[in-house]
Amino acid sequence: MLHPRVEAALNAQINAEMWSAYLYLSMAAYCHNEGFTGMANWFQVQFKEEQDHAQILFNHVISRGGRVKLEPIDAVETEWASVLAVFENTLQHEKKVTMLINDLYTVALEEKDYAAQSMLKWFIDEQVEEEEGVQDILNHLRMIKDNGYGLYMIDKELGARTYTQASPLATSAE
Ligand code: MG
Repeated sequence: MLHPRVEAALNAQINAEMWSAYLYLSMAAYCHNEGFTGMANWFQVQFKEEQDHAQILFNHVISRGGRVKLEPIDAVETEWASVLAVFENTLQHEKKVTMLINDLYTVALEEKDYAAQSMLKWFIDEQVEEEEGVQDILNHLRMIKDNGYGLYMIDKELGARTYTQASPLATSAE
C-alpha cells in the first residue's frame, strides 16, 4: 500500500521527468537549427532517458497499487543565446532534479516506505552521473570558446552517443 503522500510525490516526479524530456527535446531542436547535429543527437538521447525515468516511477506506482495521475506538462524554453548557454541550462536543470530526487527520498524516509527508498537509490546514483557528464561537456565548451574546429570536434563526439534503456526497465518484465 502506497502512502498518499508518497504517491503524490511520485506523481509529481513523473511530471518533472516528463518536463525534463520536453526540455531536452526543445534543446535538440535548437541544436539542429544551429547546425550542431551531434549535440542535437546528445539531447535526443537525453529525451529518451528522461522518458525512461518517468516510466520507472510509473511502474513503481502501478506495482504498489497506487494511482498514476498525469498532470499537464508546463511549457519549456525554445531559445538560447548559444550552445554553451544550452549546456549551462542543462547543468543547472540537473542540479535542480537532484534536489527533487533528494526531497522525494526524504518523503519516502519519513513515511518509512522502504520499497520506494530502494527504487529511488537508482535515481540518486543516476543524478551523480548526469551532473558529472554535463559538467565534462561544459568544461570542454568553455575551454574551446568560439574555436570552430573545437566546436566541430565536440559536436562530432556528442553525435556518437547512443541510447541504452535504463537498467531498472531492462530487467523488469515491461
Ligand atoms: Mg531524469
